[in-house]
Amino acid sequence: MRITIVGYGPGGVAAATAAKTFDSSAEIVIITEETLPAHKKPGATMALEHPETRELEIRDWSYESLKKGGIEVKSGMKVVGGDLDKKSLEIVSADGKSSTHQYDRLIIATGGVPSVPEMPGIDLPGVYTIQSMAETSVIGKALDTADTTVIVGAGFSGLETAERLHKMGKEVHLIIRSRLMRKQLEEAMSEDLLSRIPRGIKLHLGSAPTSVVGSKHVTAIEVGGKTIDTSIVLLMTGVRPNASLAEQFGIKVGTLGGITINNMTETSKDGVYAVGDCVEMIDSLTGKPRLMPIGSTAARAGRQAGVAAVGREKVYEDTSVMLQYDRIFDTDIVCIGHSSTSAKDVGLETEVQYLEDPNEAMKVALVTDKEGRLIGGQVLSARMGARVGYEILNRVEAGSTLKERPMLQGRHEQILSLLERTFGPMK
Ligand SMILES: Cc1cc2nc3c(=O)[nH]c(=O)nc-3n(C[C@H](O)[C@H](O)[C@H](O)COP(=O)(O)OP(=O)(O)OC[C@H]3O[C@@H](n4cnc5c(N)ncnc54)[C@H](O)[C@@H]3O)c2cc1C
Repeated sequence: MRITIVGYGPGGVAAATAAKTFDSSAEIVIITEETLPAHKKPGATMALEHPETRELEIRDWSYESLKKGGIEVKSGMKVVGGDLDKKSLEIVSADGKSSTHQYDRLIIATGGVPSVPEMPGIDLPGVYTIQSMAETSVIGKALDTADTTVIVGAGFSGLETAERLHKMGKEVHLIIRSRLMRKQLEEAMSEDLLSRIPRGIKLHLGSAPTSVVGSKHVTAIEVGGKTIDTSIVLLMTGVRPNASLAEQFGIKVGTLGGITINNMTETSKDGVYAVGDCVEMIDSLTGKPRLMPIGSTAARAGRQAGVAAVGREKVYEDTSVMLQYDRIFDTDIVCIGHSSTSAKDVGLETEVQYLEDPNEAMKVALVTDKEGRLIGGQVLSARMGARVGYEILNRVEAGSTLKERPMLQGRHEQILSLLERTFGPMK
């Protein structure tokens, strides 16, 4: 059985390793247009400060490590077309040579492409997106001669980048169209996170940029009637599915722009699977399509694709639970499952409860559905955020209500209830 995977990110590599684990005789080939060995994207902002760093490489996913595990990586090779009826792909190498490649099962894991807002000047040199390590290193070198930087977008990557540039001593302007991490956080959580941003970072709230200024290179950006002088603009405005290859093959693409898959990651074409940022995942509560462009989802779905491609029928139930963690501004930020915003997108009514523990500078949002089941949660905390996040994840995966399994109380509440049990009501 020849299994070919297009894409060398977490989706592609997880698919390859799962397929090899479940069928050791399978011939597995990963094709990628990238020329660098696999690297971590979480934390990729390190390459802004140290463009030549090798710290971000993922050793277990190097060409040599994968080869030892029986997986071949063909790097610097772009899949430009093919004939799915003949199970054949057309490939062009970095030096322009064309070849064909035969497979029995195909897994598409082509990732996402940055969403770039339309405005005058957006194509000027000095305007960047960060999607690959190579791009990050180029920006890192350009930063040598730039003191002022502008970041557009306040999701995980935008905030992580703002923190890094601020620590590097740059003047950082952060443009926030609506509020921080609007899709992942409740409004009260966004407000809380806002208060944790260091004062030195200049916030521009409530406006989107209207134009990038410059003739040969960026010199400024206009936002909310103000002009900010800068030679570097970083667009951290999210990704959209890279489904163009699948479309070219006649594979069905959904209304959100991602490849349509079922719960075994099968596409509309026999023997072709798809995973990662290029697909529309299926929301486990409603069965509706949902974009989930994060590495942990790509890896979980990749495992499912690898297993399915070698003919196993197992369906993993945890593939579409959203799970994000980062530590930015000395704060653990954990987002699990649905926020009320993402739930609304799939037609779910929700209620949100908040817990606070001032001792840990912790604020927790718990999102429940109409039946009181916990369907998501968010944690902001000076420390131990991951532990609380894990408690939430457990309950979300089990479909528990908070009545059945209450969340741990904050420490001051625990002490209060202990005192009240001993001395009677205290307030
Ligand atoms: C700066 C940054 C920080 C991030 N931080 C986090 C984080 O903290 N936590 C988290 O969960 N996620 C994070 N993400 C998101 C995460 O990296 C992505 O969700 C994940 O990489 C998606 O994996 P994937 O396998 O779908 O595709 P990708 O990792 O995007 O890989 C796509 C692959 O497809 C290949 N490819 C595409 N088209 C072709 C073609 N025609 N021919 C050959 N090869 C092709 C590319 O070369 C590449 O190897 C971050 C992303 C960025 C950019």
